[in-house]
Amino acid sequence: MSSISCGIVGLPNVGKSTLFNALTGSNVLAANYPFATIEPNTGIVPVPDERLHKLGRLYNCNKIVPATVTFVDIAGLVAGASNGEGLGNQFLSHIRSCNAIVQVVRAFTDDNVIHVDDQTLNVKSPAKDIDVINTELVLADLQSLTKRMQKFDKEARANPKLQPIADTYRQAHTLLDAGTPLWTVAGKPESLNFEHLNDLQLITAKSIIYVFNVDEAGLSDAAHQDGLRQLIAPAEALFVCAKLESELKDLDSEDARELLESYGQHESGLLQLIHAAYSTLGLQSYLTAGEKEVRAWTIRRGSTAPEAAGVIHGDFERGFIAASIVDYDDLVVAGSEQAAKAAGKMRTEGKAYVMQPGDIVEFRFNVSK
Ligand code: GDP
Repeated sequence: MSSISCGIVGLPNVGKSTLFNALTGSNVLAANYPFATIEPNTGIVPVPDERLHKLGRLYNCNKIVPATVTFVDIAGLVAGASNGEGLGNQFLSHIRSCNAIVQVVRAFTDDNVIHVDDQTLNVKSPAKDIDVINTELVLADLQSLTKRMQKFDKEARANPKLQPIADTYRQAHTLLDAGTPLWTVAGKPESLNFEHLNDLQLITAKSIIYVFNVDEAGLSDAAHQDGLRQLIAPAEALFVCAKLESELKDLDSEDARELLESYGQHESGLLQLIHAAYSTLGLQSYLTAGEKEVRAWTIRRGSTAPEAAGVIHGDFERGFIAASIVDYDDLVVAGSEQAAKAAGKMRTEGKAYVMQPGDIVEFRFNVSK
C-alpha cells in the first residue's frame, strides 16, 4: 500500500477546511460561510516518525522517505444533498477511492460561526448532524447499489456463480434501505461479505473515524467526550480542536508540544488521526535502511515477509528468498548494523515470517526464479 487515503466529510461550517489546512499545512479557504470549500482539495501528509531520522543519522543517509497519508477534503453535505440540495452530492465521487472516511462533527461553541441549519443561532447538535451526514452517505450508496443491481440481477440469473454476489447486494440494499451505514455491521458474524462490494466503492462500506471538533476546553472534558463517543460507538472517536491545530502548524516542534501539553494533549490531532487510520484499517509499517535511503513502508497487519516485500516491488515478492531483520530498538542499542550483527541481533527469516512492528528489513530475492 503506497499511501493510505482519508476522505473528509461533514456539514458546512463544522471546521473541515480548518482541520484540512492544519493537517496538510496548505492554505485552502476557511471562511465563515457555508460552501466555502467548493473544489476538492487533496493534501499528502508525511507520517511523522522519529525513528527515520535516527536511522538516517546511524546510516549517514540524507534521503528519508516517510510513509504518507492523503487527505481529501470535499464540499460540505447538507440534508437533501442526494436530491440536489446545497451543492448536491456529486463531490462524494472524489472520495470514493479513499480507504477511510473521516467525519468531522461540530462540537465547539462559537457565537460568530453560524450553523448551516440555523443561520441566526449558534446551534450545536452533534447527534442530529451525524444523522444528516450518514443519511446522505447511505442515500448515495443506495443510488450506486440500485443502479448496479438493475444490471447485475440479469447477469446473475444467467451465471449461477454470481449468485453469492447478488445475495450480498440484496443484503446490503436491505441495510441501506433501513438507513444503516454499512460500516456499522463490519466485523460482525452476521455481517456482509465486504469483498463482494469492493468494486462498487460504496462510501459507507469503508472504515469510519469520527473527529469531534471541540473547543479548547473540550479537549480535557471527559464527560463531554463520553457523551459524544456514545453517539457513534463502537466506531472510533477522536477529539480535536481544529482551531488549536491550525495554531500548531505555525510553531516549531518544541513550542507545539508545549502548547499541546498546556491543554493536556500528548499528540497533535494529525498524529492521532494517522494512528486511528492505521489501527482502523488494520495497517502497520516496517522500515528499510541503508546509506542510500531510509524508508517507511505501509503493510497490512499480519503480512508475511514476502507480502511485505511485494509492497516495494512485485519481483521482490515473486522471487523472495529470505529477509534479514533487525529490530529497531536492538539496532539503536547496538549503535550500528555491524554491531547488531556481532551481538547476534540480526535474524534471517523465511517465507512464513509474520512482520512485526519495529522490523528493519533487507530482502533477498532472485528475479530469475
Ligand atoms: P467547513 O465548512 O466545514 O470546511 O468549515 P471551516 O473550516 O471553513 O470553518 C468554518 C468556521 O468555523 C471558520 O470561521 C473557522 O474559523 C471556524 N472554526 C473551525 N474550527 C473551529 C474551532 O475548533 N473552534 C472555533 N471557535 N471555530 C472554529
